[in-house]
Amino acid sequence: MSENHETEDHHSPSRKDLYVVLVLTPLLIIGAGYGLARFYFKPAEAGLQLQLEQLATKLGALTNVHSAGNHGDGHGGGNGGHGTSHSGGHWNYDDKSTEGPAHWGDLKPEFAIASQGIRQSPIDLVESDAISVPELKAIEFRYQPSSMVVTNNGHTIQGNMSGDNTMIVQGKTYKLLQFHFHAHSEHTFAGTKYPLEVHLVHILADDPAAPKAGTKTAALIEAAIAECVMCSNDSKADHHPAEKTKAEPKPAAPAAKKPVLAVIGVMIQQGKDSEPVKSFWNDLPKVSGDSKVSPPFNPAIFLPNARSYYRYNGSLTTPPCSEGVLWTVMKSPIEFSSDQVKSFVEIFPLNARPVQPIQRRFIMQFNDGGKPANN
Ligand SMILES: [Zn+2]
Repeated sequence: MSENHETEDHHSPSRKDLYVVLVLTPLLIIGAGYGLARFYFKPAEAGLQLQLEQLATKLGALTNVHSAGNHGDGHGGGNGGHGTSHSGGHWNYDDKSTEGPAHWGDLKPEFAIASQGIRQSPIDLVESDAISVPELKAIEFRYQPSSMVVTNNGHTIQGNMSGDNTMIVQGKTYKLLQFHFHAHSEHTFAGTKYPLEVHLVHILADDPAAPKAGTKTAALIEAAIAECVMCSNDSKADHHPAEKTKAEPKPAAPAAKKPVLAVIGVMIQQGKDSEPVKSFWNDLPKVSGDSKVSPPFNPAIFLPNARSYYRYNGSLTTPPCSEGVLWTVMKSPIEFSSDQVKSFVEIFPLNARPVQPIQRRFIMQFNDGGKPANN
């Protein structure tokens, strides 16, 4: 018995050896090869994928893409797709629809911040509630006639800008990507809506303007504003003294952590004809997905003469409603004629997100020439 056992035991290893050589080794080699391949290629692929996703997210967050079942955001430049193809994600402005503004946060995980965020836009702006911050400066706009493609992206009319259009906000340079319109206005002034609101969407330039030398205050303010914007990141929320006094913070969904986007909002009231906007307004693309190359266009025509503004930290106003957007809403409106307003409203009767709770935010204001704007 024992011999048998021994014999068997003796036999067994050599069979195992053979087994190992003939079966396991190739498997191991294949496995190792696969592992190596994964090790070397997957991270690269994953890295690339990540980069693409980040880029797509950026573009998606920046772009109203009306394709592939996935709408990007009303705020954004360019013509890129959102990259990933999801089921769902369709959204609209119909408050009776399950895809309307009240439900945006539920439509996709990426949209969750639309309902969970604490720095959402738009908001109602009330002059008497806004804090005058002496350190806020007039924004320096460096806009010029630039080539532009005007697109109907299914959610708005958007002018995608080429060229070197920038603005300087508290020492940082932001580059204009695109502008687009909402009907009625998204921001309201003490409850008052305007027929249209134009949003000029900027992204932080790679190489921000050098901080104005020697101005400690400027640097501090800049840091404060950056900090303030970064409060959309939960971990920074405690840095806001005033915020501690209020109720428990809501869980923040993933949000833009850096103030990479800065949007200028300008109200458009019904009044005189806007002559310069006619270059593209007289021929707006009416069908979703249509684009038209416009003659060179100077976006400066959207800026009111008086440059008083409200400043606050908010979000994109279209899904994914990402936070970390530095908002400037000019106090003075510009004018379009009733026909010009009509041209837009005929295409987009309502593409305005309702105002969102201010929560624990400070609304700041800058008054051009020290006096409140009044036109
Ligand atoms: Zn917008």
